[in-house]
Amino acid sequence: MTIEVLELSNHPEFAGHEVVVGCVDADSGLEAFIAVHDRTLGPALGGCRMFSYASRDAAITDVLRLSRGMTYKSAAAGLPLGGGKAVIIGDPKRDKTPALLEAMGRFIDTLNGKYITAEDSGTGVDDPARMATRTKWVAGVQARQLTDGTRVSGDPSPSTAYGVFVGIQAAARHRLGAASLDGLEIAVQGVGNVGRHLSRLLVNAGARLVISDVDTTRAEGFASELDARVVSCDDIHRQPVDVFAPCALGGVLNAEAVNELRAPIVAGAANNQLARPEIDEALRVRKILYAPDYVINAGGIIDVYYGRVGYDHRKVIEHIERTGRTLAGIFERAQETGKPTGGTADRIASERLHCRDVSNVA
Ligand code: NAD
Repeated sequence: MTIEVLELSNHPEFAGHEVVVGCVDADSGLEAFIAVHDRTLGPALGGCRMFSYASRDAAITDVLRLSRGMTYKSAAAGLPLGGGKAVIIGDPKRDKTPALLEAMGRFIDTLNGKYITAEDSGTGVDDPARMATRTKWVAGVQARQLTDGTRVSGDPSPSTAYGVFVGIQAAARHRLGAASLDGLEIAVQGVGNVGRHLSRLLVNAGARLVISDVDTTRAEGFASELDARVVSCDDIHRQPVDVFAPCALGGVLNAEAVNELRAPIVAGAANNQLARPEIDEALRVRKILYAPDYVINAGGIIDVYYGRVGYDHRKVIEHIERTGRTLAGIFERAQETGKPTGGTADRIASERLHCRDVSNVA
């Protein structure tokens, strides 16, 4: 295994990273990068993504963006964690082997706890568990005991969905003056792990759903369970609903989609929803309230954090529920200053970072 510290200070996405390390392991076929952005608030925790990147440069650009994003996410969520991320180059369906995951575990171990890994896209809950056979710096693999005594897997998706649910309530209160979601119509894009949990919470709260998924069989089956309406993937963002909840991919909010939106609120789980930074302002101009993605989808990292320090379901729920107050604070400040919500969230997160403020921690 060859490990190399990368000199990236001139990289456009560098953003003052503490350290970025690359690894090649010929025996297992592992080629991976770990980026540690900032540890002001605590050890850098972030998932390990596996993706068939077109090039080494594409993987490095992604890991830099993602790890910086984790610094802001944890700061905004009031967690004593820094930002870091790992990426493995490869097709998860074809290239993921036990030997490769074990090699990744050994690579993570060389950083001695500066970086703690977890699942991400391309790696399910079982993959960090395999890495954990070679390093203790892994979170989110332990089963959790809920308040009612039930044991559940380390999958953070239900917690992510609960945070998004709480965030949609906060957005509906701010933008529509709605005391509850009863009777509101919500378009959910993508009914995968998070979208399905979220949809059930919304229906239980009295909302009516319109859903879409590229997996049409999944969408149809789920729609009949929830009495929801299915629309095509091209039309979901154009629905005349109260809330558009992107829960599939990043980059869904481009200039064209923003012009076509008919919902006054965008609030969903997907990471990196804004295709370009200026979309933040375009949404404000159209009076569409955008719940910044890394704030509203922090339920998963909150869950993973408590999974590492001692899982207490009640504390997890309370912490996730504070996402609603954080978002309400962002919405109010954005309104007072006439600034877009995404930029306002960045300012609040960086203030917390500079004041070392983790006052949200239970
Ligand atoms: P998932 O892969 O389980 O679900 C995504 C769903 O979206 C799938 O059903 C897929 O078929 C569907 N989809 C893909 N492209 C689509 C399109 N163009 N239109 C409609 N549907 C489409 O993923 P997930 O874990 O549910 O995560 C959803 C999003 O939330 C991702 O962006 C993820 O990065 C983000 N996120 C997830 C978590 C978590 O805890 N799982 C935490 C934070 C953020």
